[in-house]
Amino acid sequence: MKYEIVIGLEIHIQAKTKSKMFCRCDAKYFNAAPNSHVCPVCLGLPGALPVPNKKAIEQCIRLSLALGCNINMFSKFDRKNYFYPDLPKAYQISQYDLPFGYEGNVNIDLSGSREKQIRITRVHMEEDTGKSIHSETKTLLDFNKSGVPLVEVVTEPDFSDVKEVLSFAKRLKQIVKYIGVSDADMEKGQMRFELNMSLRKTGETSLPKYKVEVKNIGSISVLEKVITYEYNRQQEILEKGEIPVQETRGLRDLSGVTYSQRVKEEANDYRYFPEPDIPPIIYTEKEIQELRQTLGELPSEKKARYINDYGVDAALAETLTATKAKAEWFEKAIEGVEDKEVIVAVGKWFVGEVVALMKASKSKLSQLKIQPKQLVALVQLLKSSKISAPSAKQVVVAMFESGIDPETYIRENGLEMVNDESAIQAVVEKVVASNPKVVADMQKNPNAYKFLIGQAMKELQGKANPQQVDKLILARLTSGSN
Ligand SMILES: [Zn+2]
Repeated sequence: MKYEIVIGLEIHIQAKTKSKMFCRCDAKYFNAAPNSHVCPVCLGLPGALPVPNKKAIEQCIRLSLALGCNINMFSKFDRKNYFYPDLPKAYQISQYDLPFGYEGNVNIDLSGSREKQIRITRVHMEEDTGKSIHSETKTLLDFNKSGVPLVEVVTEPDFSDVKEVLSFAKRLKQIVKYIGVSDADMEKGQMRFELNMSLRKTGETSLPKYKVEVKNIGSISVLEKVITYEYNRQQEILEKGEIPVQETRGLRDLSGVTYSQRVKEEANDYRYFPEPDIPPIIYTEKEIQELRQTLGELPSEKKARYINDYGVDAALAETLTATKAKAEWFEKAIEGVEDKEVIVAVGKWFVGEVVALMKASKSKLSQLKIQPKQLVALVQLLKSSKISAPSAKQVVVAMFESGIDPETYIRENGLEMVNDESAIQAVVEKVVASNPKVVADMQKNPNAYKFLIGQAMKELQGKANPQQVDKLILARLTSGSN
């Protein structure tokens, strides 16, 4: 590839709070009637005074800590001045030079279990704007979203391909959900991406002379499409010996096609100045420490613990810790289990069979009828050869459908393994006697007898140990030919 991608991201995340950022309006506005969650503060009426939401600030600091950031113990809000119809105050309350969090980092997974560190520039708090709804003849304004708390995460331009961006986006979403800062439901606009992208010749290390900004990307799949589209578009311009225009581009639709919105000759002058209606925000070390303690185990920490303590491989650990709910289900199951072999098997059965059944029936983990300890019981029955592997699959389906105990189902359906050697021997005799041709073939092909194992297992309804059947058939045939 002749050109290398240089990407930095800005991500807006709606913090999960009861009320809005600077007023008491209900922050849960999704699907509400337009302009039903408003007051003088979030409508920007003259004289209305903002009162910062402590919970929202705490969420911003918690996310900063989870992203490995330093915290500004002395911080403040600033006015970012610009006019837009959905911003009636003509300024947005944001943070300029003293964001709550700065200089963090997040590790992302690349292929082949490699990792890369993405630097976080800053994490700050601001308020969302209202929403413009355009029709052919007019524009309508809904201020329900105005003043909803937003946490903005800004990264350094550390991404050099689309996979890294997607891996980071998923990781960030996972962290945000783990620590409960936001539900990060993209369909509800709770997490939105802004892309800063340019290309440079492969091997160059300095940043390109231009930067294209694409705002308001509402899903990870669209993000991927935009990057592909912009790569091709910018490459074409560079191939002609020109430099792409430094500008902000909008999304035409969800196909990733962008169009020029406004050209930026230089950085916008927002005339930031300290918000005079809100005093500086001051935190103590002790308060930050307390907030840190509320984070719980982060996904990366959980994953490392699973690998080290339980001996699961990296891929399984990643799947088991993908969501907090999944990890909690697994941890409940293996609580008190010492045998690592059982722990790994429970993990595999859970993310393999059980999750596949959930996907097939489009059900959620919260609806799962299998109790965590029942899956452990099944794995132990399998390990102690009480049932065969094919039977275990049948049992897990029954458990999934009705929540039945594995022991009960196995007993009621006669699935116990045949461990009685004389019973297996009888089946072996029968199979050998009824397949003289296979026995004869063994002269030419010593492996021809393998067919008989299948026949015997069928006869035993899969309830025997195949290795034991193998051994007995071989013994029978070798003794017969002597
Ligand atoms: Zn309000």
